Amino acid sequence: MMEVKEISSTSFELFNQIALHDHEQIVMCQDNATGLKAIIAIHNTVLGPGLGGTRIWNYKNEADAINDVLRLSRGMTYKASISGLNLGGAKAVIIGDANQIKSEAFFRKFGRFVENLNGKYITAEDVNTTTKDMEYVAMETDHVVGLPESMGGGGDPSPVTAYGTYMGMKASANMAWGSDSLSGKSVAVQGIGKVGFHLLEHLHKEGAKLYVSDINEKALKAAADQFGAVVVGGDDIFDLDVDVFSPCALGAVLDTNVISRLKCRVIAGAANNQLAAEKEHGPMLMDKGIYYAPDFLINAGGLINVYSEHQGYNRERAYGATEKIYDTTIEIYKKAIAENIPTQQAATAMAEQRVMDMMRVRSTY
Ligand code: NAD
Repeated sequence: MMEVKEISSTSFELFNQIALHDHEQIVMCQDNATGLKAIIAIHNTVLGPGLGGTRIWNYKNEADAINDVLRLSRGMTYKASISGLNLGGAKAVIIGDANQIKSEAFFRKFGRFVENLNGKYITAEDVNTTTKDMEYVAMETDHVVGLPESMGGGGDPSPVTAYGTYMGMKASANMAWGSDSLSGKSVAVQGIGKVGFHLLEHLHKEGAKLYVSDINEKALKAAADQFGAVVVGGDDIFDLDVDVFSPCALGAVLDTNVISRLKCRVIAGAANNQLAAEKEHGPMLMDKGIYYAPDFLINAGGLINVYSEHQGYNRERAYGATEKIYDTTIEIYKKAIAENIPTQQAATAMAEQRVMDMMRVRSTY
């Protein structure tokens, strides 16, 4: 038998962590045979089942994994709510090295844990998991989306995410310049991966002047060749005199240093959690007169796409619903201006309001 170590007193703070943002349920999934160590966090299911992808990450320690899954699952509640979806917020993280731990048995075991939740949690791919991995999960549960088109799924959600981001950018242009045309506007895109590259396609087609940065030389060359994009250094992108800055690489990119250097009037990108510190950097952008399109609103196309899959995938319906990001972005800017608050705060308030309203709707039989 394995030696059982005494639980340290700090472990008992777990319930405080869960209670802090009113999470509903945390499920720890453990399997010695496959080495699976997964944590599923269900934040809020007022609007519907909690949907959120499964991330594999080599966390430094378990506390980091728990913090991450709590933060990410809460973010999903906001994203689903503001997008008008009947979905709650949830997420799963798997602890380990994605290059070492994957196998059919590993994902099927995880699928059985998802199945045990009876549809309260719906999973999908996320960082370090793929549609192929989800095929194994789907052998054990129906509560999985983000499947390949050959299996009736919507395939890679990135093109839809890019389309939603493009809609959010156009709405922001409308607020900043009185027209949503991006023709002749200069746009700097940081990170030209799956989403960024599709975004470049839309912008190029509309006649925007493009600047790009990435750490991947091949992607940079493709952007220069296909879209005539000007390649700039990783750090130089923040100093460009451009109309729009579009973060499509990393989170927390908008910190005090970066914001003080930016010369753009619009920020609209797909990266998650762009504001390094929401309470500090939301007002800072507002003071600079920058139109900041809230990230969780304009990057919701991928979620809208997989939600559509849950109802029987229909590409047109997914794109149609994603197009509405334009109107919601305008609505958020108007609310932010009327209440003199940062746009991220306005978006969060609107998402929370919908959850509260629907809680009341569902309070009677
Ligand atoms: P990706 O991994 O395909 O692309 C990210 C790109 O950023 C890569 O090309 C990478 O080389 C580049 N990059 C990394 N560090 C960089 C740096 N310091 N400077 C410049 N470039 C750098 O990811 P993706 O799917 O395109 O997603 C991009 C962002 O959008 C992520 O933050 C992701 O969480 C978010 N997002 C994606 C989706 C989706 O549908 N894929 C949905 C919602 C949100």
